[in-house]
Amino acid sequence: MKAMISKCMLGFPCRYDGKSKPLNDEKLNKLNENYELIPFCPEAFSLPTPRPAARFIGDKIIDINGVDKTKEFLKGANEALRICREENIKIFIGKEKSPSCGIKKTSAYINGCECKCDAPGLTSKILKENGIELISEWEI
Ligand code: SF4
Repeated sequence: MKAMISKCMLGFPCRYDGKSKPLNDEKLNKLNENYELIPFCPEAFSLPTPRPAARFIGDKIIDINGVDKTKEFLKGANEALRICREENIKIFIGKEKSPSCGIKKTSAYINGCECKCDAPGLTSKILKENGIELISEWEI
């Protein structure tokens, strides 16, 4: 069965800081036994790498320089959905605390504080609204 996965968790250096966040071998082996993994990075699809970190302020995604990147994040999320539909992918395995790929937690700026709040990132939210099952990296 095919599953889309946050690309940085497979070791691709697509994070905002130009680094990756690879899963440990145990988790990776488990995933490879059960799924055909399709890596995708919604942010790198529509933004350069490295890029300024960004987080939710209300329902917008604003980078640390104060620039509204909601449109770019939406473009990456919609591309993820397009690929899932085209490739008949029904599962998304996401990197936590990302404003795009977070499943249980995402980054936000609330009351003057940088924090992680209990909500999905934009890509995860849109995939879920379209019937894709979400699996957190913490649940592997
Ligand atoms: Fe990883 Fe998703 Fe962030 Fe890309 S957008 S670096 S895949 S968590």
